[in-house]
Amino acid sequence: MDWLRWRAEHTPEREVLRFEGRSWSFGELDREVSLLARRLAVLSVGEGDRLAVLLSPGPLFVQAVHAVGRLGAVLVPLNTRLAAPELVWQLKDVEARLLLYDEVSAPQAEAIAARLPGLAAIRGGRLDAVAPADVPLRFQLDPAAVHTIVYTSGTTGRPKGAQLTYGNHGWSALVSALNLGLSPDDRWLAPMPLFHVGGLAILFRSVIYGIPTLLQPRFDPDAVHRAIDVEGATLLSVVSAMLARMLEVRGGRPYPPSLRAVLVGGGPAPQPLLDAAARLGMPVVPTYGLTETSSQVTTLAPGEAPRRPGSSGRPLFGVELRIEQDDRPQPPGEPGEIAVRGPTVMAGYFRRPEESARALAGGWLHTGDLGYLDPEGYLYVLDRREDLIVSGGENVYPAEVEAALLAHPAVLEAGVTGVPDPRWGQAVLAAVRLRPGARVTEEEIRGFCRERLAGYKVPAHVRFVDALPRNAAGKLLRRRLAD
Ligand code: ATP
Repeated sequence: MDWLRWRAEHTPEREVLRFEGRSWSFGELDREVSLLARRLAVLSVGEGDRLAVLLSPGPLFVQAVHAVGRLGAVLVPLNTRLAAPELVWQLKDVEARLLLYDEVSAPQAEAIAARLPGLAAIRGGRLDAVAPADVPLRFQLDPAAVHTIVYTSGTTGRPKGAQLTYGNHGWSALVSALNLGLSPDDRWLAPMPLFHVGGLAILFRSVIYGIPTLLQPRFDPDAVHRAIDVEGATLLSVVSAMLARMLEVRGGRPYPPSLRAVLVGGGPAPQPLLDAAARLGMPVVPTYGLTETSSQVTTLAPGEAPRRPGSSGRPLFGVELRIEQDDRPQPPGEPGEIAVRGPTVMAGYFRRPEESARALAGGWLHTGDLGYLDPEGYLYVLDRREDLIVSGGENVYPAEVEAALLAHPAVLEAGVTGVPDPRWGQAVLAAVRLRPGARVTEEEIRGFCRERLAGYKVPAHVRFVDALPRNAAGKLLRRRLAD
C-alpha cells in the first residue's frame, strides 16, 4: 500500500513534517498530496509521465514526492543550483511532461520553459487556481515501479538519470533503521537540498518510520543547532563541509545526548573533523553511499566511529559488497573498485541501455569508487577511480592527501587533484583555504605533509584560495581545482 496512505489510516495524528514553524500530521499531508495529485492530473500528468520539480526544500516538494505515486508518474528532482543550459539538457533528456517550480526558481524556470516549447510549466503558487480533477488515484504500490529519476551530480562527465524504484527506497529506509535503530521519538533533521538521494531518503524514512522530518529551507548552522538544542532533533544527515561549518560556529559547546546519530556521507569525511565532532559528544556515523544505491551502502553502527577511524562501516542488511580488480574479487586489504549488489541498487539509467549494462555488468553495480575491506568486512573508501592520481607510477589518492592537509591547524578546507607533469606524468596539486587570519607558507604546508605522507604524495604545487569549487550538495569538484 501507498506508504503515506497507510500512515494516514493508522497514525493520522502523528507529525510527519515541520517546516518554518508549521507542522503537518500524516492525515493532513495525505489530504494535501491527493489534492496535488488531482491538480497535476488536470495539468496532464498521468501514468508513466515525468514530473520535474525545481523546488527548494519545503512542503510542496514533500507533497510532490508522494503525489507522483498516486498518478503512476515519475518524479525528477532537479538540482536548483544548476545553470539554465544544464537544466534544459536534463529536461530534454528525461522528456518531462511538466515542470513544477517555486518563487525562488521562477526566473530560471521561466527562461527554461521559454526555450522548451513542448514543456508545460507551473509555479507552485498558481496551483491553487487549478480545479482538481476527479480522477481515480492509486494507492497500491508496486515495488518494481520507478518512483524517481535522479540525475547523478555530474562531478564526473555528463549526468545520467538513475532510476530508483519504490522497492529501492523502501529497502533503503528499512535497512537504515536496522543499523541505526528506531525510536518513536525520533526526529530527522534535514538541512540539505532534497534533490539528492541523501535528502530525498529522509522523506521516505519519515513516512515509513512514522516520524517527522524537521525540514530546513537551506543549510544554516545556527538553525541546525536550534533544531538539535531546542526542537529535539535526534537524527541528522550532513556532508562533511556542513559538519565543519557547524563545529566552526559551535564554539566548543557540547551536543545534547538527545542527538543520537549524525550520518556523515556524500564524500570523504576527514578524520580530524570526525574527532573534533566526537569530542563535543556528537555521535558521528560515517556512511558510504551513492545515488545509484538510493543512499547508504555501508554505515558504521552508532558508537563504532572512535574504534574504526577512517572506515565508512559495513554493508547494511541485504546489501553485498565486494572489491574488484580486473573483474576478480579481491581479498581483504587489497584495493580495487567497490561493487555493490542488493535491493537498493537502481533499476538502471533512464534510456541509457549501454551505460546501464556497463554499470550493472554481472549483476553488480560498479561504483567507480576505489576502496578496500578489512578482515572484518569494514569498508575504507580510498577515492574515485577517475580522481586517482598516478605520479611516477605510484597511486596517490587525493582524499588521503586532503586528510593530511586538513590536519594542519591553519587549514580550513583542502582539495587535491593531479596536474600534467613532464617528469612524473602527473603531479599533485593542492588548493588550500586557510582559517581566517591564519598565515602559513607553501613550504610550511609541504613540510607538514612530508612528515605524514610518502614523498610522491606531497603536493608539488600548493595554491591558496578563498573558496573551493563545490556542487550543490557541498561536494568538492576536484576537476575544477586546476582551473
Ligand atoms: P557523479 O556520479 O555524477 O560524478 P556524484 O558522485 O557526486 O556525481 P553521488 O551519487 O551524489 O554522485 O555521490 C556518490 C559518491 O560520493 C560516491 O560514488 C563516492 O565517490 C562519494 N562518497 C560517498 N560516500 C563516501 C565516503 N564515505 N567516503 C568517500 N567518498 C564517498
